[in-house]
Amino acid sequence: MIQQENANWNRLLEWAEAAEAQVSPMFRSLDKIAERNQWKVIQAFQRHRVSDFHFNGSTGYGYNDRGREILDFVYADIMGAEAALVRPHFVSGTHTISCALFGLLRPGDELLYITGRPYDTLHKVIGKPGDGTGSLQDFGIKYVEVPLAADGAIDWGGVASKVNERTKVIGIQRSRGYEWRSSYTVAEIGEMVKRVKVMKPDVSVFVDNCYGEFTEELEPTQVGVDLMAGSLIKNPGGGLAPTGGYVAGTKHAVELTSYRLTAPGIGGEVGATLGTLRAMYQGLFLAPHLVGQALKGSVFAAAMFEMLGYETNPRWDAKRTDLIQAVKFSDSKQLIAFVQGIQRAAAVDSHVVPEPWDMPGYEHPVIMAAGTFMQGGSLELSADAPIREPYIAYMQGGLTYSHVKYGVLNALSLLAERELIVIKPYTT
Ligand SMILES: *Cc1c(COP(=O)(O)O)cnc(C)c1O
Repeated sequence: MIQQENANWNRLLEWAEAAEAQVSPMFRSLDKIAERNQWKVIQAFQRHRVSDFHFNGSTGYGYNDRGREILDFVYADIMGAEAALVRPHFVSGTHTISCALFGLLRPGDELLYITGRPYDTLHKVIGKPGDGTGSLQDFGIKYVEVPLAADGAIDWGGVASKVNERTKVIGIQRSRGYEWRSSYTVAEIGEMVKRVKVMKPDVSVFVDNCYGEFTEELEPTQVGVDLMAGSLIKNPGGGLAPTGGYVAGTKHAVELTSYRLTAPGIGGEVGATLGTLRAMYQGLFLAPHLVGQALKGSVFAAAMFEMLGYETNPRWDAKRTDLIQAVKFSDSKQLIAFVQGIQRAAAVDSHVVPEPWDMPGYEHPVIMAAGTFMQGGSLELSADAPIREPYIAYMQGGLTYSHVKYGVLNALSLLAERELIVIKPYTT
């Protein structure tokens, strides 16, 4: 597994040198965002007088768990929201989003997603009428989506034609997920909120914020979003939270979500945090920096692959609003070599060779590189690729920039070993 010095590796190092010189202005602006977010997080800890005893956790019902309560306040403060609910009891991002949607919607209501098809794992949460699973549609909640326009923009004509008196929640997915489209910046989400609230003032706007936290200086709840959700094994967990999710938004929306997570009347007042609080606090403290490292890694990856002739999304110099870097390959062999190369660079499980498999919740075989400390943790360097045309790999995360760089170099080196690419000497 250990990368041998060879002609390809040495050539790749020269290309990497050139790529880093090219992207250095981007690195400076990403450092600045990380710095501002770091200060924002520290100031929230200070305002809520976070102390060592808040890390102790609770057992049983978990009544009066001060550390849990303060963590909710700290999150709400950072997100510029009235309230937040941060819990290890959310098993994943999908579960968190599911609780939020079931919290906001009632039978007869409509959920209107305006950013096209949502992330794969949400398809079964939405479900079909009468599917017998207890999905949203099985409960008589109607689901409508407006596909994105060909250029990836919101189809506002389509949205206007779909909003009606039953429309209760507007759904927005900030990140590209497994799609070759742009992610939506916080400013763009703010514009969406304005436009849909003109169409229907009492509608609630929900944002799937997975992969978005701390990539910009503002969060969606600071531009009028009513409720957003994310996973703690992604950005805000800072690589340390062992599990969990969060929602942030209006007091009412957060409370409704809490009744779905536990039970009506109980909400966020119970729930033993066991030994998870210290990691959730420390991870949140580290998150702005780690998100910055991951973003620099993505920018480097984009620059390298572009120099070597691949199509990327976003491009290296594009403004970032999530962690995901997509790279388009010409066939499944290249796609698989890329993902296996990322795995080969991991500190954990580098000896494992990932293969495509039918993952629960996904509709195509997926190959995943995940040599991570937290199982499935994707603020850690990881790569996913559904095996379908066009052959696009999605990489994200990296707790250190050097690791991402090592991953990219290993991926390219494996492509070269398998004679799927020729690495020429670098020339200016
Ligand atoms: C990861 C992700 C989810 C689902 O989160 P899981 O933790 O994998 O269940 C939902 N939406 C988006 C955009 C995501 O990136």
